[in-house]
Amino acid sequence: MPARAGRPSAAAALDEVRRVYRDLDARPVERHCELRTQCCHFKLTGKTPHLTRGEALLAARALKATGRKSLPSRPNGACPLLDPQNSRCLIYEDRPFGCRTHFCAAAGGPYARREVIDLIRRLEEIDEQLGGDGPRTLPAAISSEL
Ligand code: SF4
Repeated sequence: MPARAGRPSAAAALDEVRRVYRDLDARPVERHCELRTQCCHFKLTGKTPHLTRGEALLAARALKATGRKSLPSRPNGACPLLDPQNSRCLIYEDRPFGCRTHFCAAAGGPYARREVIDLIRRLEEIDEQLGGDGPRTLPAAISSEL
């Protein structure tokens, strides 16, 4: 995406999204993910993560880096980024904010919104700067950046 006056370059936006993720990691919120990947099965949980544009851009770049040009299809209702061969996230290092804050009960449960509201606001600001129109479901958000 070309840089325009008042709008950050894609690289600057991605850097800022990564900073938000790093700041989240630095929070003293204790969770113990056991990689059960239940939270990655949208059909089971009834919940699909919503991504702001910066998150979607980062996730799309990470997916392209795996050599894929489109979102894999998962007829079982799992996240398209969940690898059925090994039950691992294809873009784990660049997974969206919702995947970093929504934990299953066994892992300690999801973060309270108030614990991370400042970081959500920063992602919303990046979304606005990139000309996004607010959070979209993971498949729609990432597909539109591929
Ligand atoms: S992006 Fe990765 S961590 Fe998030 S739901 Fe999909 S497979 Fe799970």
